[in-house]
Amino acid sequence: MKVFDEIESEVQSYARSFPRVFNKAQGEFLYDEDGKQYLDFLAGAGTLNYGHNNPVFKRKLLEYIQADGITHGLDLHTKAKREFLETFYEKILKPRNLDYVMQFTGPTGTNAVEAALKLARNIKGREHVIAFTNGFHGVSLGALAATGNSHHRGAAGVSLSGTFRMPYDGYLGDDIDTTAYLEKVLSDSSSGVDLPAAVIVETVQGEGGINVASFEWLRNLEVVCRRHDILLIIDDIQAGCGRTGTYFSFEEAGIKPDIVTLSKSLGGYGTPFAVVLIKPELDQWKPGEHNGTFRGNNFAFVTAKSAIDEYWSNNDFSEEIKRKGEYIAQRLATIVEKYGEGNFTTRGRGMFQGLNCINGNIAGKITHNAFQNGLIIETSGADDQIVKFLCPLVTSDENLKRGIDIVEQAIKEVCAKEDSIPGESDYFDNARMHA
Ligand SMILES: *Cc1c(COP(=O)(O)O)cnc(C)c1O
Repeated sequence: MKVFDEIESEVQSYARSFPRVFNKAQGEFLYDEDGKQYLDFLAGAGTLNYGHNNPVFKRKLLEYIQADGITHGLDLHTKAKREFLETFYEKILKPRNLDYVMQFTGPTGTNAVEAALKLARNIKGREHVIAFTNGFHGVSLGALAATGNSHHRGAAGVSLSGTFRMPYDGYLGDDIDTTAYLEKVLSDSSSGVDLPAAVIVETVQGEGGINVASFEWLRNLEVVCRRHDILLIIDDIQAGCGRTGTYFSFEEAGIKPDIVTLSKSLGGYGTPFAVVLIKPELDQWKPGEHNGTFRGNNFAFVTAKSAIDEYWSNNDFSEEIKRKGEYIAQRLATIVEKYGEGNFTTRGRGMFQGLNCINGNIAGKITHNAFQNGLIIETSGADDQIVKFLCPLVTSDENLKRGIDIVEQAIKEVCAKEDSIPGESDYFDNARMHA
């Protein structure tokens, strides 16, 4: 580990949880330099929905490289881009009756979020946007202002302005519809909340701890946005591309966001790629007003098109995700019943599932134990208290079972060692310590 300790910055994060040197990967498996195999239930934090080195995409990419296809082309028209646009339109947008134009931004999620927020502010001529408690939208300054996490926010070094924070669905308890509060403050000229340009929201909060917004809440949010002439931005960077069971995570809610951001699994092969989907009448950019050297990664055009052709030409994959998602949810519910002593809970939608282990200490021990037994799985949430299941959507039934078995065994061992699972009061003590 010497070179990583001495030459690479302290900013490393995942590498600390999984201190091995990896050099090979296939499907749902990662291999370290010693040849040890790990099941990967982290999957690039939701970037590898189709698994590592998907053989179909790999063949297309190799053919493209072999034929001297364009690697870098700024935002020039290329054949690879045309084919991606045609495929995305025919197989994703058209069947869902969605009318969007596509903006290619720099290739990371936060690039797409920056563009979306900038466009919304310019269209409406208003400075503020509304973001939600526990939301995560990236760490460049505009996106960071919309992100809730204090660890990330604290590193900004400048004031993070232009955002109002509202409680996400469930934040104040199951019985309170927080969109009613939003409606109230927007209708009250003395609330102190200025009319925003947009609302930015995840339908399932990934980094925030797999918090799931109900379809009703999302529909109510859309109604509030329409009533007050506010743009609705869905950040589908982690929840999109099939994770929840449908291509877009908002489909089943029946809402039509004004702007959508996609990245992570969009490129399919782990190829960096990000887009902003914009309702045509809102595409008010002037030429070159927002740019970037790596707008539209041609390798990603090839692999993203291949991913759509292979997995989204019909409904089969979606059904598979829902079936596997139900299996994970049901296994986790059983585990909670067996070992949770009334404190652990489950949450999630599709193959975006989490196990709330009450505090980060216990969740961390569980993921550490799982790693010793060949499973890579991470935590998320304000206190890292959620064990986050993000396995590739293509994970076989056998390996899905194997991975969950490893977690179950880890929970059994960790709970046996703890005198007792802490109850609510300990949880709040712990939360205060971290505040
Ligand atoms: C990961 C993520 C981002 C940021 O993407 P980066 O590629 O890390 O910049 C933004 N929004 C959501 C919902 C994410 O999960």
